[in-house]
Amino acid sequence: MNKPHHILVAGAGLVGSLIALLLGQRGYRVTVLEKRDDMRRKQMAGGRSINLALAERGMHALRMAGLMDDVQPLLIPMKGRMLHGAEAGALSFSPYGQRPHEVIYSVSRGELNKLMMTAAETHFDVDILFNQSVETFDFDNNVVRIKDHVAEKVTSLEFELVIGCDGVGSEVRTAVIGATEGNCSIEMLDHAYKELSIPPGDSGPDGLWQMEKEALHIWPRGGHMLIALPNLDGSFTVTLFLPNKGDPGFELIDEPHELEKFFDDQFADAKNLIPEFQDEYFGNPIGQLGTVRCDRWVYENKALIMGDASHGIVPFHGQGMNAGMEDCSELIRLLDEHDDDWSVVLPEFEKLRIPNAEAIADMALENYVTMRDSVTDSKFRLKKTLGFELESKYPSQFIPRYSMVMFHRIPYAEAFARGEIQNEILNQLVDGIESVDQVDHALAERLVNEKLSRLEIVSTRSMGSAESGVS
Ligand code: FAD
Repeated sequence: MNKPHHILVAGAGLVGSLIALLLGQRGYRVTVLEKRDDMRRKQMAGGRSINLALAERGMHALRMAGLMDDVQPLLIPMKGRMLHGAEAGALSFSPYGQRPHEVIYSVSRGELNKLMMTAAETHFDVDILFNQSVETFDFDNNVVRIKDHVAEKVTSLEFELVIGCDGVGSEVRTAVIGATEGNCSIEMLDHAYKELSIPPGDSGPDGLWQMEKEALHIWPRGGHMLIALPNLDGSFTVTLFLPNKGDPGFELIDEPHELEKFFDDQFADAKNLIPEFQDEYFGNPIGQLGTVRCDRWVYENKALIMGDASHGIVPFHGQGMNAGMEDCSELIRLLDEHDDDWSVVLPEFEKLRIPNAEAIADMALENYVTMRDSVTDSKFRLKKTLGFELESKYPSQFIPRYSMVMFHRIPYAEAFARGEIQNEILNQLVDGIESVDQVDHALAERLVNEKLSRLEIVSTRSMGSAESGVS
């Protein structure tokens, strides 16, 4: 039986704050070291996404922490994609799900992070120390070197167990991979992003909001895209995703007149809504995107990595934070199951989560093509309509992959595997037809029954081994 008395968490981002809170609630003494200043006292530095899509996996973890009542007022439901066509003003709406609760939510990264930090510090034995970076680890002596960015000095601290929630550039990951001789890769995408904004208005179709408020807006343009998510103050945070090189690409759009022309050609309706687009484009940093894949997340009973530290993914499925929060709820579930015996929980956690992290990493990469390109394709739309129809008819067997990922807690690896089979079924059924009226329903029934096992529990409670379910 191994149960630490004091846990060190590196990073007070979305995942570090949440795991500190959940462990504090369990009675652990927790110290969190955060590299940056306290965002509750200072404005956050720009560059990271200002708002995020929160979905069922994240909400489950927030419910577990008893925070959903406080989080609710921060949320704006997004019921589907609002597609802005190439012809300025051409709009079409495509719902994400087909039941009233099947929506995702736009939430402010900063407000959510602050709320979790305050909840952890206020009620439990949790301390968050700011301006403190973890640097290197000596696992033989259980000592970490820490840099204090205010006092400009380096100190050492003894620890029992460290949980690395220090994001994509994780130092804890470096130490774990070094100690275990594991493998880790960071695969950079050759596309990057830049944040822009649409300010609140006073006479938009949705009052303060100058575009439909309850939607995730996309301007899909094949090789690149613009997206916008609503904020509570009536503004939208806009993100331009573009290749680094090539035409169009960040490298070539480096003069105001080139940007002007690019927006006139590609996003004329959006341009009118982004008054500061020149200043924002040239003032804001370009954010690089990548995928972190590691085959070791745990070192003995001494270290664990979670969230972006172990599985940073590209943002196109809106699941990075959700997956990190699911790490938190899964760790707590395993602690419940094994009576807080960390020597059992840690290897079990690693075994359970790595295949799921791999699966969501791949689905996130695929979804970039879906968002910027496939959504405009008539075959894609036909398959989507048919997918909803099959879900209505066979709700315990066929659930569209997007719904499995966003509205359920079916393990990602299982959602991925079932999604592949479902896609084959859909391809077979739409082959040579133009509309759902022409679908061969007898064939559909046969394929679903032959190829898809019943999901034991279709509801949001379905969480468990990543191996079950597909036949
Ligand atoms: P981070 O948020 O990176 O937090 C890490 C923390 O550790 C930071 O506070 C950092 O200062 C601190 N730190 C770093 N190094 C050290 C150190 N050495 N010592 C101490 N502290 C350290 N996810 C979604 O679910 N939905 C979305 O819609 C979504 N949209 C996104 C859009 C964009 C453009 C991007 C880039 C990401 C998006 N994500 C989204 C992903 C999401 O932002 C991340 O998955 C999430 O922030 C991961 O949380 P984290 O706590 O693991 O890491």
